[in-house]
Amino acid sequence: MSAAKFLHELVGSMSQGAAGNPTVAMIEAAFAHHGLHWRYVNMEVTPEDLGVAVRGAKAMGFRGFNCSLPHKVTVIPHLDGLGESAAVMGAVNCVVRRGDQFIGENTDGKGFLKSLETEIDPKGKSVVLFGAGGASRAIAVELGLAGTKRITIVNRSEKRGAELVTLLRDKLKLDAELVVWQGDYAVPTGTDIVINGTSIGLYDAKARLDLVLDSLKSGMVVADVIFNPVRTRFLDDAAAHGCVAIDGLGMLVNQGIVGVEYWTGITPDADVMRKALESAMDL
Ligand code: NDP
Repeated sequence: MSAAKFLHELVGSMSQGAAGNPTVAMIEAAFAHHGLHWRYVNMEVTPEDLGVAVRGAKAMGFRGFNCSLPHKVTVIPHLDGLGESAAVMGAVNCVVRRGDQFIGENTDGKGFLKSLETEIDPKGKSVVLFGAGGASRAIAVELGLAGTKRITIVNRSEKRGAELVTLLRDKLKLDAELVVWQGDYAVPTGTDIVINGTSIGLYDAKARLDLVLDSLKSGMVVADVIFNPVRTRFLDDAAAHGCVAIDGLGMLVNQGIVGVEYWTGITPDADVMRKALESAMDL
């Protein structure tokens, strides 16, 4: 045999502590539903082995892979290039084979945007975003690339918040400001979109965002990155104030959809993927 020939096309997921990753069930459900002879495999990769793992995946003909913490930034020197938003963020969670090159993309923010756009076009809109970590950075950059008019980052740590605001101003010329989060924050009048990009609420349905609830006005679109529980206290409060509420599970499904589109070129069935994810997560 002159070259290894797989029965299936392979896509991977490189992470640490990835056992039981529910994304596997979601992506493989899409492959099966569309009759694709593809497999999505979890691979436990240590930081020391990341470079050889990427070269190995390339040598073995992998069509790409997802990578999660702690590899999102350190994977970059091992790749051949970056997509637009990944280059701005400086973080990659999805690698795609294009010809003989491995190109790094970031699907977190794109997944969020896909969910958001079912309710509102962010172009020209004013946004309040709680958080300045990896998820918030991905969301803020995609919003900037989509033409958002103004973004207010509300974050507990001033340093992390200032870094994100500087990135948005310098790289995207965005009208961005930082509010250091102390006490209950009042969403300014005229805000169109309010997003929780923090980890507040993960596995805790009672967790409260420090927020003046009456500043949430009817017609605002309110979104959460938290996917478990699907319905957070923040979303319930927002809905009770007449806001349109968007859950984080849709973002998770959509980032999977964008990945499958990148790797296979087909647009997979969203319902099939969401059901597989819900089942894998016992939701
Ligand atoms: P990071 O650790 O990078 O960032 C966490 C953010 O939450 C920071 O802004 C941090 O503020 C803030 N935060 C945490 N606890 C508190 C608190 N008690 N009070 C105020 N602020 C707080 O995490 P990520 O950005 O990677 O992930 C954030 C959440 O997004 C996670 O729950 C993750 O599961 C979810 N996520 C969901 C995705 C989806 O597809 N739905 C995709 C990716 C992530 P500070 O800077 O002050 O520490």
